[in-house]
Amino acid sequence: MSRIKILMMVVSGLFMMIGIITMVSAGAEAAPLNEDSVPAFYQDIIQVENPDSLSVLVNKNYSLPEDYEPDDLVFLEVPLYNNDKNNEANYLRKEAADALKELFTAAKKEGYELIARSGYRSYATQASLYERYVEQDGVEAADTYSARPGHSEHQTGLTIDVTSDTVHGGLTELFGETEEGKWVAENAYRFGFIVRYPQDRTAETGYQYEPWHLRYVGVQAATEIYQDQLILEDYVLSVMNRTSFLWD
Ligand SMILES: [Zn+2]
Repeated sequence: MSRIKILMMVVSGLFMMIGIITMVSAGAEAAPLNEDSVPAFYQDIIQVENPDSLSVLVNKNYSLPEDYEPDDLVFLEVPLYNNDKNNEANYLRKEAADALKELFTAAKKEGYELIARSGYRSYATQASLYERYVEQDGVEAADTYSARPGHSEHQTGLTIDVTSDTVHGGLTELFGETEEGKWVAENAYRFGFIVRYPQDRTAETGYQYEPWHLRYVGVQAATEIYQDQLILEDYVLSVMNRTSFLWD
C-alpha cells in the first residue's frame, strides 16, 4: 500500500470521528426546549383525559373539563390566610392536604412559619376572576398572571399558593427571596410539591415567576423534577417517552 493511500485512510478516518463527535454534541444540545418548540398558548387546546391523576398537565394548551371537581377535597389543617370553612380556597385533595401539613410542620421545626392562601378554585370562580382581570388590564396582561377558566391548576385541587408574614401574606416574587421562600424552594419536593413556574422557564410555562405557587405531583415525580431542574411539561413528556417503549 502506498504512503498516499495510508495517509488518505488516516485523514478520512479523522473526518469520520469529527463527524460523529459533532453529531453527538449537537444531539446533546438539542435536548432543551428551544423557542420554536414552545406551543402557541391557547391554540389547539386539548382537554385532558386524566383530571384525577396526580401528574395531570394543566396549562395554556391542556385544559380540565368545565365540570371537573375533585371528589376528595378536604379542609386544610395548616395556618390559613383567611380561615373560613366556606371558602373553597381552603380546600385541597386529601393526599395534597396531608402532604402540605407535613411540609408546614417540617418548615416550622426549622423556624419558618408558612401561611396557605389559595388552594382549590372551581371553574366558575376562575371564570369570574379572569374576567375581572381582563377588564382591569386587558387580555394580554391578564394572560401572564391569570389562567383562563379550565386552564387553572387550582381547579385540580392539587395546587396551593403559600406565603409568609415576612411578605405580609402577599403573593409576590419577594417571597422567593425570604428565608421561608428559599426553604420552600429547596424542600417542597420532599413532600411531593414543585414550584410550578420557575424564574428561568417563563417562556415555556407562559407564566411569570411564581415562587408561591406549589403543585402537588407526589414525592417521586417532585424529586425527579427538582433534581433535574425540570418543569412539569418536561416531566410529562419524558414519562410519555419512557412508557412509549413499553407500547412499541
Ligand atoms: Zn397559584
